[in-house]
Amino acid sequence: MHDVVIAGGGPVGLLLAGELALSGCSVLVLERDREPSSPLKALPLGLRGLTAGSVELFYRRGLLKAVAKASGVDAGKVGADPEAIEAPAPRDLSHFAGMALDAAGIETSSLPFRLPSPAMEGFMTSLEAVGEVLSERCAALGAEIVRGAPVTAVAQDDAAVVVTAGGREHRARWLVGCDGGRSAVRELAGFDFVGTEPLFTGYVAKVTFADPDRLPLGFNLTPNGMYLRTPFEGHLGMMDFDGGAFDRSRPLTRDHLQTVLRRVSGTDVTLNEVHLASSFTDRAMQVTTYRKGRVLLAGDAAHIHSPLGGQGLNLGLGDAVNLGWKLAATVHGSAPDGLLDTYTGERHPIGASVLDWSRAQVATMKPGPNAAALRQLVRDLISTPDGTTHVYRATSGLFNRYDLGSEQPLVGRTAPDFRFEDGTRLGDLLRQGQGVAVDFSTDRALRTAAKRWEGRIRYAAGPVRDDLGLRAVLIRPDGVVAWAGEPTPDSRAFEQAAAQWFGTPDN
Ligand SMILES: Cc1cc2nc3c(=O)[nH]c(=O)nc-3n(C[C@H](O)[C@H](O)[C@H](O)COP(=O)(O)OP(=O)(O)OC[C@H]3O[C@@H](n4cnc5c(N)ncnc54)[C@H](O)[C@@H]3O)c2cc1C
Repeated sequence: MHDVVIAGGGPVGLLLAGELALSGCSVLVLERDREPSSPLKALPLGLRGLTAGSVELFYRRGLLKAVAKASGVDAGKVGADPEAIEAPAPRDLSHFAGMALDAAGIETSSLPFRLPSPAMEGFMTSLEAVGEVLSERCAALGAEIVRGAPVTAVAQDDAAVVVTAGGREHRARWLVGCDGGRSAVRELAGFDFVGTEPLFTGYVAKVTFADPDRLPLGFNLTPNGMYLRTPFEGHLGMMDFDGGAFDRSRPLTRDHLQTVLRRVSGTDVTLNEVHLASSFTDRAMQVTTYRKGRVLLAGDAAHIHSPLGGQGLNLGLGDAVNLGWKLAATVHGSAPDGLLDTYTGERHPIGASVLDWSRAQVATMKPGPNAAALRQLVRDLISTPDGTTHVYRATSGLFNRYDLGSEQPLVGRTAPDFRFEDGTRLGDLLRQGQGVAVDFSTDRALRTAAKRWEGRIRYAAGPVRDDLGLRAVLIRPDGVVAWAGEPTPDSRAFEQAAAQWFGTPDN
């Protein structure tokens, strides 16, 4: 029997498998597809944007260089100068509904707790690149991946889950469905999936244009929808406001795509050939809880929405890193009561806000004068410093805050990358997936307290380059601040926070 079976070896399932294996769990990934690679995962159709939040996550697990390399990106260009004392201003900013924003407009003074780090910017990658790096990590950590094994049945009782895949039964203590937007696990385990129906059908394709000069590069909003051309030759995206009426089980023929493109672009452009195509919609749905007994969901299995603004992958990676250590602690019997349910408590609101962010974009892109008026209003607002900063905060993945019941403003946020005098950074200390107690004041009582959770909490003491006025910080394995001691470290308060997140101490 495995500790955890994961259905689906997409980016979310693979990241989660690695997190669980890193924490000593036995993990089996059951993946429907026989081959890890596919043209839909490779460039250009597999092109995906990683937010700074996801880049930070990879950095903290020692995977940033590998992901950057596989993505063809210079890792040195996504972080601050290693000797920088102040965090550099953000360089990249997502768009809103195709409206580009200028990162120079971000008011850095209103971004709290920023310290220089090797992971400060998002970058473009592909599903293939992320999959490759995460599969290698699974192999290195001993998480088993079985391909060509679609999950077709799930049964659970108080003690275990039985998962049927590829005609074989697998028993596990826990099952996590990471099997994408049409999740079989979600269906089989009876999760409620609720939300809003689509306004458009979207398409991505690799085509040969007869007359490519007729369609400019970039996002092009038109009276009938939107088309996008990226610098990749023949890479085309479209949004057709048909109410989601297109039957997506139909083949995507050249004639159909050309008809849509002509309607959306308002030109008589010709497609000579369609090499590869797929469709999507802006259906925005989310499960009402991420856990039912011994079955949990993460990634697109838990929430779907339009790809506008490139958030789905990032949201799913965030689910995986939030769930991994909590499920591992539950498997090992060290989790405090209720820890596993904080997964839904923390991630459901973040997912709901991403769904709303994508709905708001669709609402401003609809054809017609009402949306055009709304679009102009939004354009004016987001080009103000406050508006630009708001979009950055909402989309960079660095400013989410979980409500952990503390008024201390750093608690519930991703921890700044504190840097010790010897050059060690917080990111280095999080690599093994333990919690970290950073004691800037080298307090004897705090050291003694932290030792009680040895193995679960790593203790690091000493002055750092910028302690943000704090004396000590307790950071969860997912990099989120659980407790911040100011102005004097209080070992009793530290112990309470450690017990709340890491359970009863061993010593
Ligand atoms: C055109 C487009 C552009 C996008 N751009 C971005 C972007 O820029 N940034 C971003 O963050 N997100 C983007 N997204 C969204 C992103 O691709 C998804 O949110 C992300 O891939 C979800 O990862 P996942 O692992 O949850 O699911 P998936 O990637 O769908 O992986 C699910 C896996 O489960 C397997 N599976 C399915 N059924 C079963 C079964 N029954 N048993 C076992 N295995 C099964 C599948 O084969 C697959 O390997 C985009 C999406 C689209 C369509």
